[in-house]
Amino acid sequence: MRLARSLAPTLKETPAEAQIASHRLMLRAGLVRQEAAGIYAWLPLGLRALRRIEQIVREEQDAAGAQEMLMPTIQPAELWRESGRYDAYGPEMLRILDRHKREMLYGPTNEEMVVDLARQCLRSYRELPQTVYHIQWKFRDEVRPRFGVMRGREFLMKDAYSIDVDYAGAVVSYRRMMLAYMRTFQRMGLRAIPMAAESGPIGGNLSHEFIILAPTGESQVFYDAAFETIDYTDAGFDIRSADDLERFFGVMTSQYAATDEKHDEARWAEVPAERRREGRGIEVGHIFYFGTKYSKPMGFTVPGPDGRPFHPEMGSYGIGVSRLVGAVIEAGHDEAGIIWPDAVAPFRVALLNLKTGDAACDALCERLYGRLDALYDDREERAGVKFADADLLGLPWQVIVGPRGAAAGRVELKRRATGERIELSVEDALARLA
Ligand code: ATP
Ligand code: MG
Ligand code: MG
Ligand code: MG
Repeated sequence: MRLARSLAPTLKETPAEAQIASHRLMLRAGLVRQEAAGIYAWLPLGLRALRRIEQIVREEQDAAGAQEMLMPTIQPAELWRESGRYDAYGPEMLRILDRHKREMLYGPTNEEMVVDLARQCLRSYRELPQTVYHIQWKFRDEVRPRFGVMRGREFLMKDAYSIDVDYAGAVVSYRRMMLAYMRTFQRMGLRAIPMAAESGPIGGNLSHEFIILAPTGESQVFYDAAFETIDYTDAGFDIRSADDLERFFGVMTSQYAATDEKHDEARWAEVPAERRREGRGIEVGHIFYFGTKYSKPMGFTVPGPDGRPFHPEMGSYGIGVSRLVGAVIEAGHDEAGIIWPDAVAPFRVALLNLKTGDAACDALCERLYGRLDALYDDREERAGVKFADADLLGLPWQVIVGPRGAAAGRVELKRRATGERIELSVEDALARLA
């Protein structure tokens, strides 16, 4: 991507409406622009980060055996009347009338639709278990949309749904998602803690929220410091093995961790004082077991081994894909700007041409640009502006090309996270970064 002809409007000034770092930086770096309260357009660089996060989520869902599909954003009110949630959901639901005055809604979540699909498609207990997911825009008319994409009204969610024969099966599906979630967040450079949580309007009784610790988070959390050192990335857990999942779940739930809604003073008192941690966090994911809460009222049954129909046991599992872009920036930034983890950066390299129009600089930059996953700053701007914008945009590496170096076949390489700079030959730079 060439910056001179890109829709990447960086801002020097801090936008007044932004209260937290990630919101400020997403506006300043030109990743998003607000179109209405809580409704954002994703500009090219922001979209690339969003897509990379989405792709990590997808890969880990696939690895957990979930099947990707795509459900519509608009749903008929009828389905929600069947479950009883059409009225219960309240003003957070965006209700729409079509030209025939049929009641529709912009989906805030998809339990009803999955149950409807399952009852149309599944014919026998032998087809279970199944887990499906999609990555789709949701709408919730939040009372207070704020903090940019962290609490949008329109936002991108990955939501998965498991369908099992019985409780034992549903628990395995639940644990499998918990492991997939820990791996997902870890790949983004985030340490998430699964915390016992209320299940809210979605219902059910086995529920965990995945919380990223951050002072600007909206959730009040209480956890055992043991979570700061548990190595949940242990590759030894086989996501296909029910025994491994049980062991993993044991590790994840052996120490105290709860959001304020589920906080239990008696159990908290049992945690050694020096290990009690209280703070704030961002909810980036949430998993629920809800049993037959929807399959029953919606009449979803399949015949069991004895031929008698039964209601399958279900769970649902959400990740805030667009919220994660904000959360990753909350976790990785400094005074100068964003510090993207390698795994989600919109590009690997910022290529800075310090003297556009200089034949040697231009030729060398073109050569590097052809070989690198780079955002090429080919604008006719002062070097100082390019340095500042490169730090603001926060790509992991900066390759700096000036006239003297270009003539000698040398460039400067800067690591954004550490500020460390070295001079090296073009060949060495390519060997390291291409
Ligand atoms: P919150 O407590 O932040 O309102 P929620 O509990 O209502 O979130 P869930 O129904 O659990 O949300 O949805 C699954 C995930 O979707 C959440 O864990 C969160 O990461 C994300 N999410 C929910 N609401 C929003 C929103 N308004 N903007 C961005 N992401 C959201
Ligand atoms: Mg909410
Ligand atoms: Mg919540
Ligand atoms: Mg939640």
